[in-house]
Amino acid sequence: MAGVWILAEHHNQVLELLGVGRDLATKQGTRLTALIWDDRERVQEYIDCGADEVLLLAPPASGQPPEAYVPVIVAEALTQDPDIFLIEATLRGKDMAARIAARLNTGLCSECGGLTLDEKEDRLVMERLIYGGAAVQTLVCSTRPQMATIPPRAFAPAQPQGTRQGQVRELPPPPPAAVRVIERKPKTRGTVSVAEAKVLVCVGRGIEKQEDLELARELAGVIGGELCCTRPIAEELHWLPEETYIGLSGLKVKPDLYIGVGISGQIQHMTGIRDARVICAINRDENAPIFEASDYGIVGDLYDVLPRLTGELKQALKK
Ligand SMILES: Cc1cc2nc3c(=O)[nH]c(=O)nc-3n(C[C@H](O)[C@H](O)[C@H](O)COP(=O)(O)OP(=O)(O)OC[C@H]3O[C@@H](n4cnc5c(N)ncnc54)[C@H](O)[C@@H]3O)c2cc1C
Repeated sequence: MAGVWILAEHHNQVLELLGVGRDLATKQGTRLTALIWDDRERVQEYIDCGADEVLLLAPPASGQPPEAYVPVIVAEALTQDPDIFLIEATLRGKDMAARIAARLNTGLCSECGGLTLDEKEDRLVMERLIYGGAAVQTLVCSTRPQMATIPPRAFAPAQPQGTRQGQVRELPPPPPAAVRVIERKPKTRGTVSVAEAKVLVCVGRGIEKQEDLELARELAGVIGGELCCTRPIAEELHWLPEETYIGLSGLKVKPDLYIGVGISGQIQHMTGIRDARVICAINRDENAPIFEASDYGIVGDLYDVLPRLTGELKQALKK
C-alpha cells in the first residue's frame, strides 16, 4: 500500500490537490498520481506541478453520469493500492468520494481543511470543522486508503517545479451505467463560480423584493464578484439557486473579500465564511451579530448604501 492519489475535475482544484498531495508524497517518499477528466492538454503542466503519474478518465459517453466512473477508479485503486486518496469536495466529487470509499471499504473525512502526516505512526491526521464551525475535529483513519474530500481553496495551488518526467495512462471507459441521463440543462450560475470566487457579494433577507437583487448584482459586477446568498433566500424564497447559499448546510467559501448585504450573521451562515480574508457588512441594525465578525461595517439602509457604494466604486475604478 503506497502512493498519494488525487481526483479533481476543475483546473484550479487539480492544482490545489497537487500542492498538498506533492507535499504528502514527498514526506512519505512515495508517488503522486492525479486522476483527471478533461484538460488533456494540461497533462505536462500537472506533471511539472508535482504529479508522477496522470491517469486519464475516458471522456464521458453521451448520457454517462459521473458515478459510472466509480467502478473504473475502484478497480485501479484495488490494483495500485494507494495509501492516501484526496478528492475535491464539489457536488460531483463528494458524491463520487462516498461511493468510492464504500466500495473500498474504508472511511472518508468530508470537507477536510487541514492535513498533516504523523510520520511516527505513518498516518494522515485530518482536520474538519464541526458544531457549526465552533470546534475543529481531528481524525485519523483506521482503514486504508485514508480518504478525504477537500473544499476548494483549502490549500495553495501547486507551482511548476521545472520540467519533470511523469507517466500518462488512459483508464478504460466506464461500463454502461444503470442510470441514464435523459436531459441536461446548463445552469445560469454554478456552484463552482461561487465556491472559487475571490470576491463575493452575499444577500440576505434584508432584501425586500426579488428584483432588488439587481442592486447587489450590480455591485458584484463592478468589483468582479459573484452573487451568493443566505439559506432563506435560496431555500425559502427561491430567488437564487440553492447551490449559491453559504453556510453550515451550504457552501464553505474562502474569498479574499465577502460583502454581506442585509444579513443578520447567524452562526449557521457565518460558519461558511469563517475563512474569508476580509468581511464587510451592510446592515441597518447596529447590533446585528454580523458586525462582530466583520472587518468593516456600514450601519445603514441597504437601499441607500448599495447605489451609493456602487456609484463610488464605479468612479474610483474608472480613474
Ligand atoms: C440546521 C440549520 C442549518 C442552517 N444552515 C444555514 C446555512 O447553511 N446558511 C444560512 O445562511 N443559513 C442557515 N440557516 C439559517 C440561519 O439560522 C439564519 O436563519 C439565516 O442565516 C438568516 O438569514 P438572513 O441573515 O438572510 O436573514 P435574517 O436573520 O432575517 O436577517 C436579515 C437582516 O437584514 C437586516 N435588514 C433588514 N432590512 C434591511 C435594510 N433595508 N438595510 C439593511 N439591513 C437590513 C436586518 O437588520 C437583519 O439583520 C440554518 C438554520 C438551521 C436551523
